[in-house]
Amino acid sequence: MESPPPATEPAVRLIPLGGLGEIGLNMMLVESGDELIAIDCGLMFPDPDEMPGIDHVIPDFSYALAKRDGFRAVFLTHGHEDHIGALSYLLRRAQVPIYGTPLTLALVSERLREHGLLESADLRSMRPRDRIEVGPFRVEPIRVTHSIVDGIGLAIDTPVGTIVHTGDFKLDATPLDGDPPDYYRFAELGEHGVLVLCSDSTNVDRPGHTRSESDVGRALRGHFQGATGRIVLATFASHIHRIQQVLTLAAEHDRRVALLGMSMQKNVTVSAALGILKVPEGLLVPLEDLNALPRERQIILSTGTQGEPNSALALMAAGEHKYVQIERGDLVVISARVIPGHERTIGRVVNALLRLGAEVLYDDNAFVHVSGHASQEDLKLMLNLTRPRYFIPVHGEYRHLLGHARLAETVGLTPERIFLVEDGVGVEVTKTAARVVGGYPTGRVLVDGKGVGDIGAVVLRDRQLLAQDGLVSVSLVIDRAGAILAGPEIASRGVVYVKENEALLDELRAAILTTLAAAAATDREAIAAVVRGAVRQFINQRFQRKPVVLPVILEV
Ligand SMILES: [Zn+2]
Ligand SMILES: [Zn+2]
Repeated sequence: MESPPPATEPAVRLIPLGGLGEIGLNMMLVESGDELIAIDCGLMFPDPDEMPGIDHVIPDFSYALAKRDGFRAVFLTHGHEDHIGALSYLLRRAQVPIYGTPLTLALVSERLREHGLLESADLRSMRPRDRIEVGPFRVEPIRVTHSIVDGIGLAIDTPVGTIVHTGDFKLDATPLDGDPPDYYRFAELGEHGVLVLCSDSTNVDRPGHTRSESDVGRALRGHFQGATGRIVLATFASHIHRIQQVLTLAAEHDRRVALLGMSMQKNVTVSAALGILKVPEGLLVPLEDLNALPRERQIILSTGTQGEPNSALALMAAGEHKYVQIERGDLVVISARVIPGHERTIGRVVNALLRLGAEVLYDDNAFVHVSGHASQEDLKLMLNLTRPRYFIPVHGEYRHLLGHARLAETVGLTPERIFLVEDGVGVEVTKTAARVVGGYPTGRVLVDGKGVGDIGAVVLRDRQLLAQDGLVSVSLVIDRAGAILAGPEIASRGVVYVKENEALLDELRAAILTTLAAAAATDREAIAAVVRGAVRQFINQRFQRKPVVLPVILEV
């Protein structure tokens, strides 16, 4: 880390711990002196090929934990997992107040309850235009629109000036709840002077404006009108407004709705209780009751938009769902974006549904989804409204951050006012200057079951090797002089099917014994090394595979 600036001038540091360099695990620290707050605390779902067996990935909190005495609060922008999902891991190690809007806190509460942390958590509700004093900061939530309701950006007054963080946003002038983004407040902040703007880069590649959620409703209405059979609609369980549109259309067309998927049921219950979701009386029915109705009166609202193997939608497509059989004349709508990496699984589900005779609408063949993130013209408008002195693109892979930096230049920000930084690289701002301060501890902490951070690169590489080429274990019992008393016993997983390859195993056993005799190794380590080498060579020659070899040498 570079040396601190001269003590004469106060400085504030923005330190991204996650979300700059990837989409996921969003967390940004704002630090003034010894005091700091965090914006969001999210997780990332790993690519299963890259990280086999890993449940999720969270940011490295060690810098914030080292400063825990001055760690004042976490401010949440909205309830998506990439913004709230790591809180349970943070709260296990530090007691920090959590601020969020009502729906965000309701979703956080669900998660914390699952982890047994709800009782001890200090959750504080905030609403747009509140002013919250914490340490040297005054934080104001600002209403934005996004693919989940109750999303906000933040204006943070600091000793050196105002920092605006947009959170995830789009500029939807006709949102379903009639609560558009607070354009006025963003402009007013711009008028008074914004020192730093951090803005969502996710959709920087898309020209034009992002369309309104209401447009999707109009399109869905057309599709519902034409439908003569059952309708199955899959969407993200957190997309309350999309769910609202389906419920409203169902009532209009005198259909009843059954919910499929745990998260769908949970989120509908939570947001109906908060009054965010309006559920017409008698509209929701259990699946058994729905099945008793004529097909043209049925709607199934389901999760599984990414073709996840055990999701309701995938089971329906495979004809394996216990209670729902897709038939000719059914309409299936996948009302969601394709998360990169899921194209093949979704494709498989779509093909299977079509084979069953259903009509299938999805992002590419019908207008049944709209993004929750701002496109180029929206992003330019945000830059123009806030007119920041300094700009930091956030929420994106490097290509998105770079694209957003270039976009900012087109609206007149000079390159020295734009900070293209990634996780672990901070930006220090004073009233008159800004500079990069590198070297904060950062990284992706892997969570597998109950283990947090105990899986490193070596374990991951082993898992990849195991997944690719399998495992061979060789057990030997030796005496103190290294003479073989029993074995070698050979077991393998994912290399060859042992039962059908007895002859091959005999050969392998012989090869191990021959190599051991020639090597004349006497201690356990040396014998293990010889065994490993012999097995690798044998398998490589026969199959050109490189399994993980696990010698188990017992000395008696
Ligand atoms: Zn989001
Ligand atoms: Zn996000």
